[in-house]
Amino acid sequence: MISLYSIMAAILVVGTGYYLYENFIYRKMYYKKIIDTSSNIVMITNHEKIIEVNATFFQYFSKCMNLKEFLEKYSCLCDFFEIEEGYLGSNLEGKTWIEYLYANNGVKHKVKMNIYGHKYYFLVSASLIDPKRKVYGLIFSDISEQEQTKKALELLTLNDALTNIGNRRYFDQKLEEHITLTQRYKYPFSFLIFDIDFFKKINDMYGHDVGDKVLIEFTTLIKENLRQADIFARIGGEEFAVLLPATTNDKAYTLAQKLRTLIEEAKGTTQITTSIGLIQYEKGDDPKTMFQRADFALYKAKETGRNKVVLG
Ligand code: GH3
Ligand code: MG
Ligand code: MG
Repeated sequence: MISLYSIMAAILVVGTGYYLYENFIYRKMYYKKIIDTSSNIVMITNHEKIIEVNATFFQYFSKCMNLKEFLEKYSCLCDFFEIEEGYLGSNLEGKTWIEYLYANNGVKHKVKMNIYGHKYYFLVSASLIDPKRKVYGLIFSDISEQEQTKKALELLTLNDALTNIGNRRYFDQKLEEHITLTQRYKYPFSFLIFDIDFFKKINDMYGHDVGDKVLIEFTTLIKENLRQADIFARIGGEEFAVLLPATTNDKAYTLAQKLRTLIEEAKGTTQITTSIGLIQYEKGDDPKTMFQRADFALYKAKETGRNKVVLG
């Protein structure tokens, strides 16, 4: 015979089970469904490894079927980060990227990732879910489209339409960057300003279109004789600048003479020559003082007969 106690115990078990199901299992499923439908990547992680991710994660990391497989293949999500100024990972101040994110919680962080050859940009935010176990919740929202449009526009504003190299704005940015890097790492760099000699005469004699063609030929010839890391820009009508990273002025002088000779001897639309002012970064220099010194060296080259390199 079933006793009253067994009935009560059965009610208690069923009730507890129902309570647990409603409040934990069902609710967890319910939340998981919501998180899975988010277009953002949602990730739960501690400072050692990822604990859970939503379904969106696998839309990006499509070579992995599940989190276990991902963790077996990769030791850190940061393996996918592309290190670039302004994006997470470029300066973590000695912290792991998650610790850095959390320590700078109020700031909006952008991260650039290269996932199986595709470049993505995400805005990432972190919240501490469990302080005791250091469990963090991270949300990555894909901002690739906005970032790519922004970059394309930025590029346009830094490009010279005629010669398709950087313009004065681009050169100013690079010069600032290299002054900062030089001050930090103490490497030398040199700076050349070119001004084509008597260019007005070419326009006057052959017309503006021919003048334009000569500017393009000049650009092509210089570009062909520079290294990938060198910065080349059109900073004015018939004025160009070259920044030579990690180059002292004696090496730069040899290169400048070579470029000057190549221009003089080129078999282009018309024969041209160029005067060049050359300087090396000196302690305490800023963009203004560098331009002043390079301009003065160029002025001397013009004053003393043109078609020459003057070291300032
Ligand atoms: P200098 O040897 O003293 O440098 O003489 P210059 O004639 O080169 O110097 P000046 O500054 O008197 O003249 C520069 C000329 O460059 C005048 C201008 O018409 C021409 N120029 C500037 N920008 C362009 C351009 O985009 N296309 C063409 N075709 N000519 C340009
Ligand atoms: Mg000029
Ligand atoms: Mg000129």
